[in-house]
Amino acid sequence: MRHLLTIWAILSVTFTTAQTTYLLRPDRVFDGENSHDGWVVRVKGDKIETAGPASSVSANGAEVIDLKGTTLMPGMIEGHSHLFLHPYNETPWDDQVLKEARSLRVARATVHAQKTLLAGFTTVRDLGTEGADYDDVGLKQAINQGIIPGPRMMIVTRALIATGSYAPKGFSADIDVPQGAEEADGHDALIQAVRRQIGKGADAIKIYADYRWGLMAEARPTYTVDEIKLIVEVAKSSGRSVVAHASTAEGMRRAIVGGCETVEHGDAGTPEIFRLMKEHGTALCPTLAAGDAVSQYRGWKKGQDPEPARIREKRVTFKQALDAGVTICAGGDVGVFSHGDNAREQEMMVDYGMKPLDVLRSTTSVNADVFHLTDRGRVKAGLLADLVAVEGDPVKTVASLRRIKLVMKGGQLYKQ
Ligand SMILES: [Zn+2]
Repeated sequence: MRHLLTIWAILSVTFTTAQTTYLLRPDRVFDGENSHDGWVVRVKGDKIETAGPASSVSANGAEVIDLKGTTLMPGMIEGHSHLFLHPYNETPWDDQVLKEARSLRVARATVHAQKTLLAGFTTVRDLGTEGADYDDVGLKQAINQGIIPGPRMMIVTRALIATGSYAPKGFSADIDVPQGAEEADGHDALIQAVRRQIGKGADAIKIYADYRWGLMAEARPTYTVDEIKLIVEVAKSSGRSVVAHASTAEGMRRAIVGGCETVEHGDAGTPEIFRLMKEHGTALCPTLAAGDAVSQYRGWKKGQDPEPARIREKRVTFKQALDAGVTICAGGDVGVFSHGDNAREQEMMVDYGMKPLDVLRSTTSVNADVFHLTDRGRVKAGLLADLVAVEGDPVKTVASLRRIKLVMKGGQLYKQ
């Protein structure tokens, strides 16, 4: 993407004074659900004015952008990011939380935001600052105010953990080590923590329904079902949803019956658990790329060595979720691997057995629906003009998602 011109700096000045109208002319439009050959899209100001067959859309008064050889689609939605983390093979997670100054982490995050946007992801659901307190609130404001380029952010601020369950751990019992999320338990403290996070800017509440705190350091459930129900009830009063990290079957079960709307990871799900998800309408965000990255950081030579058990099992459980008809979000847990490399998740979803068309739907309209982002995720009149053009046809070749030719967010061009 280095050779492509980023014209955000110039345009951000222009666009504050004039509402530009564009006519975008790709080979085809993927509208978030289906592909249409020969469609064009007319953008006025920050919204999509019309989308349809070229013969039915006027070019009058519009600046025409020819996008021959491309597919135009909704700006992609990253379902699980951590803009305040960088790959663990650069710096282990513990050291990022304990040794990196918040100012350093914020500085990095601004660069991560730009890389994400230029990779065609115009929205991220950022699932926790991992020790950087409420710094996602300011990062989101900086993007929204046009101070730095970046995706629209849906944020959860600090996330909630049961006392003693999370990390960093392994230190002397005599000292209190700062944690990667906020500890809160029980009736009053949980109510306060949820309300505090909302008051400070959380768009959703994230909980860790299980974590590696078992007797043998294995993942075990954390919050009780009653605690989860309470968190969900309090969050819901404000119109916000709850998202749960859960990798064990029991952690997932508690998150599902407790009313969480998405389960992140779900590695050890079972056919029974996935049926329960389907029944409750709980979506799965599988984060395939994170497991793939971590396995490689631990020494797996992908393509040479046989697949480790963790990867083989993930293939099985992901397939079980698909077979059960569970709604699949697209989110890679990016931050564990490089920001801007988000499409790694989409490639892996296809590799693990999902149809490319369904992967594209997950990355656009499904993510928008599950995250209650009703103003985006589709190419449709009246929605935000968050659009990307990719070379080729991603319905045929998912790797097209890496060949970004144009990025528009709210009618502003960031890459062309
Ligand atoms: Zn995560």
